[in-house]
Amino acid sequence: MKPKVFVEMASRVKNLPPYLFATIDKMKQEARAKGVDLIDMSIGDPDIPTPAHIVDALKTAVENPEHHRYPSYEGMLSFREAVADWYRTRFNVTLDPGQEVLSLIGSKEGIGHIPLAFVEPGDTVLVPSPGYPVYPVSVLFAGGESHIMPLTEKNGFLPDFSSIPQRTLMNTKLMFINYPNNPTSVVAPRSFYEEVVNLADKYNIIVCHDAAYSEIYFDGEKPLSFMEVDGAKSVGIEFHSLSKTYNMTGWRIGFAVGNSEVLAGLGKIKTNLDSGVFQAIQEASITALRTDDALLSGIRRTYQERRDVLYAGLRELGLDVTKPRASFYLWARVPAGYDSAGFVGDMLDKTGVLATPGNGFGAPGEGYVRFALTVSADRTKEAVERLKKAL
Ligand SMILES: *Cc1c(COP(=O)(O)O)cnc(C)c1O
Repeated sequence: MKPKVFVEMASRVKNLPPYLFATIDKMKQEARAKGVDLIDMSIGDPDIPTPAHIVDALKTAVENPEHHRYPSYEGMLSFREAVADWYRTRFNVTLDPGQEVLSLIGSKEGIGHIPLAFVEPGDTVLVPSPGYPVYPVSVLFAGGESHIMPLTEKNGFLPDFSSIPQRTLMNTKLMFINYPNNPTSVVAPRSFYEEVVNLADKYNIIVCHDAAYSEIYFDGEKPLSFMEVDGAKSVGIEFHSLSKTYNMTGWRIGFAVGNSEVLAGLGKIKTNLDSGVFQAIQEASITALRTDDALLSGIRRTYQERRDVLYAGLRELGLDVTKPRASFYLWARVPAGYDSAGFVGDMLDKTGVLATPGNGFGAPGEGYVRFALTVSADRTKEAVERLKKAL
């Protein structure tokens, strides 16, 4: 007898692509069970703890009963003011904290919800690939259609808008872009953002720029904010997160800034689904946003040292790898004769080093592998030594 299905999942769940990290988790478990000394470079979650002054700010804030009640969905005004101050200091961008800043329960939350506010069934959304898996899934949940923008080496891992059919652009409601980019680690030039503003203006497209890695940069070259570009605020918003900048992935706080109508739409969804970010976390985040730049420079130096070790090592091994100017990832072509999954599996078996297969970020990522700089420089050196012995 066939097992009886008690409940059938909705097609929006049944149509989900396989979750990338489920396969990787299984490989990890199997390796650990065999007693492998795993060097895990597969996850984009900082290994460095949240700075102590931010943790202390939370300890104080959590004692205050004012913060024990429901927060407002849009965020405390003091938090939104701190975000506006941070934008002014870092990017020389002026934001109205009342209308142009919205708190999020991590930027993933805002990215996942934004299509629900604007995308009708059948509308097109432009989605970069390889890319953050949440973009196409949020489109699927809203009933929209993703039009994939392949990020190729030939185009410097920037989308080629000229290859998108006019008909598609006419039907497009929204687009996602993400620089510094996960997984390719490239930074976009100002001219790219200007092209985005022109395109969005011409076809009435809402631009959603994901800037989660804007503060993880190397060699002192600061990435731009989309909001610095003329006209950006009239066509879109920018997502930001405290997760990567301050090593706060577990805290769940981010924000979106920019066009007030777009933020109002996202806010409408949020008022009906969630109740905002715990105020004590917002208080600690105000402290985070005012962190002395010297401390952040130290974090950047740590990543840069790891980048230099891994980049040099992979080059010596003959891998074709892009030198990251930002983010904490290295994006490398797999050696000839391998596909992404085959190389990752073989590398794990022979060396205990685990990376992420590029095709997990979308079909155009096939033939690549992503290494995360979230293990210490010493362990990174060890990983390079083992790869040299095995490959
Ligand atoms: C890590 C990451 C985020 C941030 O997620 P949070 O929900 O803010 O923790 C957003 N976009 C990309 C591309 C990321 O890699």
